Amino acid sequence: MIGKIVKGIAGFYYIHTPDSGVYECKARGIFRNKKIKPLIGDNVEIAILDEEEKLGNMIEILPRRNSLIRPTVANIDQAVIVFAVENPKPSFNLLDRFLIMAERQKVKPIICFNKIDTLSNEEVDAIKNIYITTGYNVMLTSAVEDSGISPLKEILLNKTTVFAGPSGVGKSSILNLIQSEELLEIGEVSRKIKRGKHTTRHASLLAFQKDSYVVDTPGFSSLLIEDMDKDELKDYFIEFDRYKDGCKFGGCNHMSEPSCAVKDAVQSGDISESRYRSYTLLYEELKDIRRW
Ligand code: GDP
Ligand code: ZN
Repeated sequence: MIGKIVKGIAGFYYIHTPDSGVYECKARGIFRNKKIKPLIGDNVEIAILDEEEKLGNMIEILPRRNSLIRPTVANIDQAVIVFAVENPKPSFNLLDRFLIMAERQKVKPIICFNKIDTLSNEEVDAIKNIYITTGYNVMLTSAVEDSGISPLKEILLNKTTVFAGPSGVGKSSILNLIQSEELLEIGEVSRKIKRGKHTTRHASLLAFQKDSYVVDTPGFSSLLIEDMDKDELKDYFIEFDRYKDGCKFGGCNHMSEPSCAVKDAVQSGDISESRYRSYTLLYEELKDIRRW
């Protein structure tokens, strides 16, 4: 049977199978020989030992698409990057850093502006508009009013998603709403886990619907980009891509180069000024790090 590791505790792995619930499994010796450590999020093949007790053996890890560190989770499809429209006021530069981290790890970002109940529609739209030109999906939610949560849930269907964003923006509140239709399996995981004495806090996956998972701890806790080459930065501002062939110089960094199509697009409003400002700030930052 094929399932997904949703939790690991002291040598036991909890494997969620879309059709038969959660099995408590041990990894067979083969993993130690192969020097491969099973991760939360791994898709695995298991052999059932006891169907009544839901016990099994993990016999193979299927190929991994990617793996995040902190939290350590494999096969992440997408990141929902949550910022509040107010309280705390959004730092767009910080949001752009989250987007860069996601792009860099090849995890598809989705922007979610929460707490829309605290501003007028016009004010919310003004914030949303900053990101329209990026092409990223922008969701608007209010966890307290339970609005915008259904479309968000739809985006999570059949995917494994990590939530990210600064603290206080409403990530836990949103996750709680998403889990309200939580399946029986989750209860089952917790019941089994309570038997163990080890309470070390590791990331785990919450399953909802058939093949949809969310990571229970926020992603991208480290937003350091100092190991990045400044010339690499432009690749992570995805909306620059359409314009870069129009720049006079090949490899144009869209800074002080003449005849730069990206800067023209900023002038005409096709690229948002806020995004371009983030780009130049980060570019200078990376340049300084190199110099030191
Ligand atoms: P987290 O740190 O990102 O997990 O944020 P929390 O979910 O703990 O929320 C932080 C605070 O913001 C709490 O007091 C929530 O009640 C509040 N909050 C969360 N979502 C909303 C919302 O949509 N609107 C308003 N007005 N407050 C919210
Ligand atoms: Zn350019």
